[in-house]
Amino acid sequence: VQVHGTLLRRQDDRGPRVLLVLNDITRLKQLEAMRRDFVANVSHELKTPVTAILGFVETLLDEVPDGADHTQQFLNIIGKHANRLNLIIEDLLALSRLESQEGMIDPARFSLERIIERVFEGYRDQARRKDIHLRVHYDGHAQACGAANLLEQALNNLVENAIKYSEPGGEVAIIVENRNKEIRIQVKDTGQGIPQEDVPRIFERFFRVDRARSRELGGTGLGLAIVKHIVLAHQGEIMVDTREGSGSTFTLRIPQDQ
Ligand code: ADP
Repeated sequence: VQVHGTLLRRQDDRGPRVLLVLNDITRLKQLEAMRRDFVANVSHELKTPVTAILGFVETLLDEVPDGADHTQQFLNIIGKHANRLNLIIEDLLALSRLESQEGMIDPARFSLERIIERVFEGYRDQARRKDIHLRVHYDGHAQACGAANLLEQALNNLVENAIKYSEPGGEVAIIVENRNKEIRIQVKDTGQGIPQEDVPRIFERFFRVDRARSRELGGTGLGLAIVKHIVLAHQGEIMVDTREGSGSTFTLRIPQDQ
């Protein structure tokens, strides 16, 4: 129950009166839980048919001979859209899982070196195709504390964006620093940057600076919202320093003791 008290002055001389407003917030809490369940349920409901569509499309694509009619072309289009839906659902599920576990992660000590190696390994081909150099630098030891799989997902999202929103010939660097009981991870790119007026909104769900470009590049608009939730689940902070045309640096600060 939320309580608000106000002192009321009276015209007569019968002493002060207090107005108490009691707000039952059980309902609010219930609504919040319902909203979370709704997202999780919708995602699960959507995921089943999408997986079926993808399966059938793949089988048909394997069977239909090339150039027979428009079937191939249409199947490709259906497949592309179903894949996109699939990515959005997976991201929504990740967000809803994170929201329901907020503050309840199971922390453990781990080395960031192996995780960063794996993240870079996953994007090596994509970076090579765009002629983007991947670099990592450690200042001090790379021990972190938290949920390794979640921090790996956060770094995956940031590195994917750094490559996606960069021109060929650029560099994506991860810099890990250890200072005053916190680990600082920076993901730096030399890409297109983000307009200052959009910076406050980039962690919102489905916000994109350029919707068409993000979609064309396969983005769901949920990547940074996920990163933010992961950092919050670690009692950490995320900041971005960016200049249009010369690149962006996303900085994660995670306390060493969870
Ligand atoms: P998306 O799936 O569209 O990439 P995100 O939530 O990951 O969604 O990012 C939101 C938006 O922020 C992107 O659409 C893009 O406009 C901008 N953005 C994110 N990372 C970068 C980056 N490294 N450089 C430039 N713009 C970025």
